Amino acid sequence: MGTFTKILLSAACVAFLAARWTAPRFDAESLRGARVLVTGASTGIGEQMAYHYARFGAQVVITARRDKVLQKVAEECLRLGAQKALYVAADMASESDPDTVVDFALEHLGGLDYLVLNHIGPSPFSMWEGDVEHTRWLMKVNFLSYVQMAWRSLASLEQSKGSLVIVSSLLAKMPSPFVAPYASTKHALNGFFGSLYHELAMKKSNVSVSICTLGLIDTESAMDKVRGYTDVPAYPAPDAALNIIVTGATRQPELFYPWFTRALILSKDWFPSFTDYVIQNSYNYTP
Ligand code: NAP
Repeated sequence: MGTFTKILLSAACVAFLAARWTAPRFDAESLRGARVLVTGASTGIGEQMAYHYARFGAQVVITARRDKVLQKVAEECLRLGAQKALYVAADMASESDPDTVVDFALEHLGGLDYLVLNHIGPSPFSMWEGDVEHTRWLMKVNFLSYVQMAWRSLASLEQSKGSLVIVSSLLAKMPSPFVAPYASTKHALNGFFGSLYHELAMKKSNVSVSICTLGLIDTESAMDKVRGYTDVPAYPAPDAALNIIVTGATRQPELFYPWFTRALILSKDWFPSFTDYVIQNSYNYTP
């Protein structure tokens, strides 16, 4: 191994260890009784987040569209130890439902400590063939409703020294094929909440903003989409959910899960042509 490579590897190890040592410690007790609203909590990562918050003894309000599924998740949350578990069915494509959900949580929990924005509308995994209407609808569900709910809950989060947690994707920083509408909604989230993060810091606001960048996670909906297209490894939803919760609780501005998503983003900047080649050849596609 050359001297330069050795120096580079040593520097990377030192940076990694320094980041580990200086990272704020997670205190699970801080979540006991915490008032939490989790969106998209009927399935997938949102459901797993609801269960983790429940085990930590939080008070949770969960939301998604399907009433009966939410009811089951809420019952499981109570069984796992949630101090409160309430649900409200809502469609985030609606103009009024995002506000209604926040108002429901504020009223029933007496305020909010965590707003965890996680829901996504279903979107095809395919070449974009000009469906502008779907892209417009998805922007409402995956982006505009996040903005609306963040604004509606900001005063309460300010009072409680609370946290705004945004579940985003590697595709927000490194788009890949077959997901143009979805990737654009995630780019919009990163842009909006990245800007809001600075504004709140400059105003010396009490509210922390955490943007969570996730790679492929083994939820049913994600696996159904990519099956047959790619062999990229998927990471476990319960672990992704726990990492998101810890990031919010420790008020860190960013999460990269799994850890190598950060390296992938760097590779896009440092070796663009090589990264493009890898991305395009990670999918089975014959024109
Ligand atoms: P998921 O399993 O598909 O769950 C989506 C949730 O959103 C469900 O609870 C769904 O419930 C709800 N939902 C769908 N349409 C809605 C609407 N119109 N109004 C309100 N709620 C709606 O998703 P996931 O895989 O867990 O992903 C969760 C988050 O992680 C998303 O933000 C996603 O972008 C991010 N992420 C996931 C992956 C991955 O590989 N899984 C990778 C990167 C980032 P109902 O059907 O009951 O409404």
